[in-house]
Amino acid sequence: MKAILTDVTKCIGCAACVTACKETNNLDKGKPREWQKSDGLSSDNWTSVLRKNDTYIRKQCRHCLEPACESVCPVGALHRTESGAVVYDEDKCLGCRYCMMACPYGIPRYEWDSPVPYIRKCIMCHDNIAAGIIDQPACTNICPTQATIYGNRDDLIKEAKRRIKSDPKYLDHIYGETEVGGTNVIYITSKDEKLDFLTYYTNRLGDPEKKYGYPDITQSIPETTKIAMKSVPPAFLGMGAIMTGAYWIVQRRMKIEKANKDANKVNNDKNNEVGNG
Ligand code: SF4
Ligand code: SF4
Ligand code: SF4
Repeated sequence: MKAILTDVTKCIGCAACVTACKETNNLDKGKPREWQKSDGLSSDNWTSVLRKNDTYIRKQCRHCLEPACESVCPVGALHRTESGAVVYDEDKCLGCRYCMMACPYGIPRYEWDSPVPYIRKCIMCHDNIAAGIIDQPACTNICPTQATIYGNRDDLIKEAKRRIKSDPKYLDHIYGETEVGGTNVIYITSKDEKLDFLTYYTNRLGDPEKKYGYPDITQSIPETTKIAMKSVPPAFLGMGAIMTGAYWIVQRRMKIEKANKDANKVNNDKNNEVGNG
């Protein structure tokens, strides 16, 4: 089981991880890479680096061992792979956005500006690694200070414990070791930065004053969502799925028609050029 360990004390906020992610995953490169008010994630930003005073922390999908997003998806568009990455199959997705509501970390984002929107999030570079194109995620590979590193989850937990034991600056806690049933993206931080920082910046509900951030929860979210999903009448779910599916099909047809029209236009232009020549 592969994982990512991010050591908040080592991050210098260079955002090389953000750029590398965009390049490797062919994401729009025109978006800003510094965020003040939002958490920086979007359909084109699968990881972000947030700043509080002199501390930086990167945010990305946690690749939960028991993913809430997977548990609520009615068509299995999200699933955890054997490698540990939680990946997305856009051909299956209905666009219902249940995953966005279920994720305890507010990770999945929707392509609101697209006529045929999909869900987007970090996939731990799963496709490129599985194809043998790269041997680790682009973000961990590029990090100049090794603030974020890739490896076997067990090894990274041992490494995190070693660092915590060897230096009193560290808070004695590995975020993600047990939270929400355990995650494959884990964090360590210093006593100065404290839990509040991680809570506030890495959780959708993370308001440290109100203390309803998810990191205190060790129970897996699917255990909770199963109960919630069971309480939703099947007829309601079925109707929702049908409506969403109909919308999806119409959008896809429109997309295909547009692509055909564009292709015809290119061919006509070419023919005209040949004719004129
Ligand atoms: S962090 Fe959210 S999107 Fe990522 S695997 Fe966990 S539930 Fe799914
Ligand atoms: S693991 Fe890959 S997809 Fe995820 S943030 Fe890093 S570079 Fe982007
Ligand atoms: S590349 Fe490394 S040091 Fe730079 S912002 Fe990302 S995690 Fe921090």
